[in-house]
Amino acid sequence: DAEAAPAGRCPIIELSGAHKHFGDYHALRGIDLSVGAGEFFSLLGPSGCGKTTLLRTIAGFEALGAGRLVIGGRDMAGVPPNRRPTNMVFQSYAIFPHLDVGQNVGFGLRRSEGSRAQKAVRIGEALEMVGLAGYERRGAQALSGGQRQRVALARALILRPDVLLLDEPLSALDKKLREQMQAELRRLQRQVGITFVLVTHDQEEALIMSDRVAVMFEGRIAQLAGPQELYRHPASRRVAEFIGMMNFLPVIATGDTLEIAGLGRVPRAGLRSAAPDGQGPPEAGIRPEMFSILYPGEQTGRRTAQGTVRETAFYGDMTYYEVILDGTERPVTISMKNMPGRMILSPGTQARIAWDAESVTLFSAAW
Ligand code: ATP
Repeated sequence: DAEAAPAGRCPIIELSGAHKHFGDYHALRGIDLSVGAGEFFSLLGPSGCGKTTLLRTIAGFEALGAGRLVIGGRDMAGVPPNRRPTNMVFQSYAIFPHLDVGQNVGFGLRRSEGSRAQKAVRIGEALEMVGLAGYERRGAQALSGGQRQRVALARALILRPDVLLLDEPLSALDKKLREQMQAELRRLQRQVGITFVLVTHDQEEALIMSDRVAVMFEGRIAQLAGPQELYRHPASRRVAEFIGMMNFLPVIATGDTLEIAGLGRVPRAGLRSAAPDGQGPPEAGIRPEMFSILYPGEQTGRRTAQGTVRETAFYGDMTYYEVILDGTERPVTISMKNMPGRMILSPGTQARIAWDAESVTLFSAAW
């Protein structure tokens, strides 16, 4: 059961039959999920799918219309945000500009027990966790975007929540810094062992960071799985399109044999099928890296097909080709790792392509 907490972890967040309306708009349409203690869990989906609403529901900023939310074994109905074992880091991490870094990080401690010296120690520890040891006296205004993000994290972590909720925390950062912070956040989460629930619309970010990902469309969870499972076995065409890139080729079925446009006949038995989605004709889905372009004269034990390169895009480590397979009109995308001695093919070149039936997923309404 993909909705259960993963083996070996106690569930810390349990949500069942969750619905939320904003006026006439049905933002959450029956969400069931269980997040394991210590898990890095992501809510991934396009803008407007309800992921932020779901996160705010867990935090207690939104009340559920129907359904049940249990955190750490306690029913959260009527429990305000500040009484929940959760803390939230917002997209626009509001740093108080007139306070220094130490005061910003210690903000949530100001009414808690403990001497000034004890609080100073906790501030120091929180800053160390996020790689800002010794920054207490710095002015908050003088910080870079990445440093502000770290301060916001330290400020949330110092309260030692059981669950940290993160709403697109890295979206304001440029690409390089975002990639660096993704790795840091992941390392930090493992180190502190706190459950992280991250909202993101960036599929790469979700795959890189998470133990499990819930892919959401229109207020529902379309698939809940680990990154590898999501990528290799997308449950539907929509998930397959949202996670990474996939080629879809028309298929004609005759008895036990399938004819895949441009690739040829394969026995139907043993091919993987995604759940029928009730839309469109049958298609064969293949990821770009599951094809390879053979060297002239190269021998292979794999299945082969023939095509013509239409476009070439060089990405440094990789080259992406658009190839028109013989007998077809729409190109397929093929990615090849660039290696010493491997030529980059120019448009117009004839190419022999290798592929395997094992890397095909069938998508269709009517299997
Ligand atoms: P984004 O990445 O754009 O924030 P999201 O997946 O997080 O998208 P939500 O913010 O959860 O989406 O919004 C889901 C839907 O609910 C949207 O159509 C949004 O307009 C609507 N919505 C959210 N909050 C409210 C509100 N307070 N009042 C009315 N409608 C709302």
